[in-house]
Amino acid sequence: MLRLAIQKSGRLSEDSLQLLRDAGINLSSSPSRLLRTQATNFPLELIFVRDDDIPEYVEGGVVDVGIVGENVLLETLKDVETVERLGFGKCRLCLAMPKNAAYNGPESLQGLRIATSYVRILENFLAAQNIRAEIHEISGSVEITPSLGLADAIFDIVSTGSTLLANGLREVATVIESEALLVANPDLSPEKREILARLLFRIHANRNAKNHRYILMNVPNDRLDEIAAIIPGMKSPTVLPLTQPGWSSLHSVIPENVFWDALEQLKAAGAEGILVVPIERMIL
Ligand code: ATP
Ligand code: ZN
Repeated sequence: MLRLAIQKSGRLSEDSLQLLRDAGINLSSSPSRLLRTQATNFPLELIFVRDDDIPEYVEGGVVDVGIVGENVLLETLKDVETVERLGFGKCRLCLAMPKNAAYNGPESLQGLRIATSYVRILENFLAAQNIRAEIHEISGSVEITPSLGLADAIFDIVSTGSTLLANGLREVATVIESEALLVANPDLSPEKREILARLLFRIHANRNAKNHRYILMNVPNDRLDEIAAIIPGMKSPTVLPLTQPGWSSLHSVIPENVFWDALEQLKAAGAEGILVVPIERMIL
């Protein structure tokens, strides 16, 4: 049995549960009211906690693995293994200053009062830049401190920037880009490692599927080579004869990020009846 900690309620909760659902893992009871539950079809126990506690639980072996924001992990300095970057919960940790304050690089921060909940990350950044500033640790609503006269700059999480704007601040530098991480205790038993590997296999199969499309089209035989060359497929495409003489059906898998470009080129090269189909699971 592998024990996984996820955020009980917050920005990472729904995406964490969805990751498990996509991996075909069913939970025995609705997670909303419970603090722990078991999967019915996978050796996984789920524990619901505050995100700030996850690095410590994983490090101490209270749980085997956890899903936590990189920002929280970096701030807590716990000794855990990052197993996978999960691609959700994206945000950045930024320095921001009042709209009209001058900023010409980190040296503009010299001697300023900076309010933040991320003291360690900020300290590391300032040390690396050889800047001395006065750090004020604040646990929430960091954005209002400059207008209250408590700070000259802030260092905080930003996702869209609208909160900064509403508080008369502008972002001056990004220090860290963060996303949700799957982290593990470094000393997992071989049995737990194996369960973790099975979970990762499913996560990868879903991610590959999401990042690719299955594409099929009808192609005149004399253009087959030219058209096959356009497709940035996994391997060589599949070609099947059509009952109509002189035509074939060509199938392949293409990366999601190029398929619009590829479609235009394929059409221009004489492909007809092009279908693009989502892929449910993909194992490379
Ligand atoms: P908890 O009650 O579990 O302590 P919290 O209030 O500390 O919750 P949330 O605001 O739910 O935490 O954010 C959880 C994580 O989501 C953050 O640590 C960060 O990694 C990520 N995140 C993504 N976008 C944002 C955002 N716009 N603001 C804050 N966190 C964000
Ligand atoms: Zn928290």
